[in-house]
Amino acid sequence: MEKNCLFCQIVKGEKPADFVYQDDSLVVFKDIRPHAPVHLLIVPRKHIRSVNDLREEDKEIISDMIFKAKEIARGQEISESGYKLIFNIERGGGQVIFHLHMHLLGGW
Ligand code: AMP
Ligand code: ZN
Repeated sequence: MEKNCLFCQIVKGEKPADFVYQDDSLVVFKDIRPHAPVHLLIVPRKHIRSVNDLREEDKEIISDMIFKAKEIARGQEISESGYKLIFNIERGGGQVIFHLHMHLLGGW
């Protein structure tokens, strides 16, 4: 838990979000400013600043995020039409929330 981190607050239920999935390792909620018909954020509960800060011990987290994205895409029936999984990394990469998350965009 990082003080003043919006996604830590959402993960802990201190700030609202439109959740579509939650488990012990990660949560998935709708992006507040969607850039696609389906725009979800896959967010690990653990506070990690960005992909740059991943450690060996975080391998399972990343794996969980990708497998969950695949499963949710299938559940939302956007697998066949196709979707994007995107990590924005640091300011130059478009990251504005410095708690690791992966965008799932699709439904076109
Ligand atoms: P990034 O640019 O990768 O850091 O993406 C951060 C994303 O978080 C943006 O697409 C925002 O629209 C989204 N976002 C910001 N605040 C919230 C919130 N309270 N609930 C849901 N999504 C949010
Ligand atoms: Zn955080």
